[in-house]
Amino acid sequence: MKLIKGDEVQVIRGKDKGKRGNVEKVLRKSNAVLLPGLNLYKRHMKAKSQRQKSEIITLTKPIALANVAIICPNCKKMTRVGYRIDKDEKKRICLKCKKII
Ligand SMILES: [Zn+2]
Repeated sequence: MKLIKGDEVQVIRGKDKGKRGNVEKVLRKSNAVLLPGLNLYKRHMKAKSQRQKSEIITLTKPIALANVAIICPNCKKMTRVGYRIDKDEKKRICLKCKKII
């Protein structure tokens, strides 16, 4: 998993293409990330009892990792993540500016 919580990413495919957001959660099992306010969908909740009202709620759907690209905090460009071993520690680097991200 190359993305971590807090990373700024840009959506590169789908209906929110071009929009940016910060990763709120990384879903390792499904290879997806949650970006608050992006990839929303509406769901109709039916009332389960007479006291409840049926309503439409908005949910955030996870976006597949393949559909987002990380924005490097150093060069502010869409980039890919690489790795560098630095004193036995694996560091993420931006493949464009080679800085640690
Ligand atoms: Zn960079």
